[in-house]
Amino acid sequence: MSTLKVLQKLQPRNNLAEDVRILIDDNVSLHWVKAHIGKVGNESADKAAKEATTKPTIDLHLDLPERSLKTNLKQKILEHWQKSWEDRENTKGRFTFASFPKVSISRCIDNRYITQATTNHGLFPSYFRRFNIKACTCRCGEDTTDDILHYAHHCPTVSHLRNKISSSHSLLHIISNRETSKELTSILQFIHEHEEDIIQLED
Ligand SMILES: [Zn+2]
Repeated sequence: MSTLKVLQKLQPRNNLAEDVRILIDDNVSLHWVKAHIGKVGNESADKAAKEATTKPTIDLHLDLPERSLKTNLKQKILEHWQKSWEDRENTKGRFTFASFPKVSISRCIDNRYITQATTNHGLFPSYFRRFNIKACTCRCGEDTTDDILHYAHHCPTVSHLRNKISSSHSLLHIISNRETSKELTSILQFIHEHEEDIIQLED
């Protein structure tokens, strides 16, 4: 009975009810019938409903081939991700955004030092200060930023490891080139192994 009421409504909120209404033409009228009294149509409907409950999956008409639906969904998810990555209100990951403004599902950095470089989350004084791990500065005293760019481009404590990298190279350029990327890895590894010689704790 409740199904009939839903179908009688001028604007049913239920999509299925709307679909059913569209299928019904003027030659069809709907009436409530008492159950289990041998009405052929009603018995057939009961049988079909019972059979449907035994199926392992449900039938769902998608209007699109499954492959196209997956492609469309993937595209939508990427668009959503790109939009939130570009969002000016988003304050997270802005250092990384400068190198990678476009999101990608194929980018994979498996070198932990390069990950530290692209996120600016490494054993740099700037990182220790930002996350209140310890108050410190670089012993060279030449720069107050003391972040990855300081070590990649300027810091004299690692100048012996900096041959190919120039201060005009962007971080993206450095990590995209095999030789400069290797050099940057050596610089960060050296900082990791000589932290006390490079980083000075503040009083
Ligand atoms: Zn320094």
